[in-house]
Amino acid sequence: MRTPFVVGNWKLHKTIAESLALVTELKNALGALKGVQVGVAPTFVSINPVAKRLEDSAIATCAQDCHWETHGPWTGEVSPELLADAGVSWIIVGHSERRQFLGDSNEVVGKKVPAVLAKNIGAIVCCGEMLADRDGGRMLEVVDAQLGAALANVDAAAASKLVIAYEPVWAIGTGRTATPAQAQEVHKHIRSRLAGKLGQAAADSIRIQYGGSVKPANAEALISEPDIDGFLVGGASLEAADFIAIVKAARPS
Ligand code: PEP
Repeated sequence: MRTPFVVGNWKLHKTIAESLALVTELKNALGALKGVQVGVAPTFVSINPVAKRLEDSAIATCAQDCHWETHGPWTGEVSPELLADAGVSWIIVGHSERRQFLGDSNEVVGKKVPAVLAKNIGAIVCCGEMLADRDGGRMLEVVDAQLGAALANVDAAAASKLVIAYEPVWAIGTGRTATPAQAQEVHKHIRSRLAGKLGQAAADSIRIQYGGSVKPANAEALISEPDIDGFLVGGASLEAADFIAIVKAARPS
């Protein structure tokens, strides 16, 4: 019922030329693939060249972050509107690296999400606990607080433009993946929270991606869980062969 959605988050990697080389390989391999939606999130400087290269392809150009205002005295920032103008159709909001190191509090994320949706751009809203929260049994509490703030001003009409990415921080870039059962437990919880906030029909339609050391070797087991609807992939999205294998694993058989 939900089309799986796999997005590669390239973080602070790749020149414009390198981005174009990677996206050209992805386009050739995945451009005509059915049954799964694919996106790539290059650095801001590579977004427009990548979007142009993807113009005649179903692969979406995404951004890794944005500001909540449309314009004004915000030196160094980029707005959803400018990103849409550059060719972006989805924006990642509240990635754990931004939450941990770049000032994206729950409050900031709560301003960015409605700003993205207001421009009719999709929002990929990240949440996930630190290792100490998991060890202390607080992971559902942490995720609830993050999503409560992120979705405070979002209603069910936004469901088709909303994706949640559950990314346990202890699994990001560490090589340590949540087991399919650990991920499913949180994904199921998130869907029940979405139902409480937006209604069951909206919750059933919203894709919940898993992120955290997803590789070709673990993608198939993760995607077989009923509430895992795709992936947000960091490291493995930088190599065409790995990302292509993950996308193919996410495709319903
Ligand atoms: C990410 O950055 O969103 C991520 C999941 O990274 P990695 O796949 O490298 O763990």
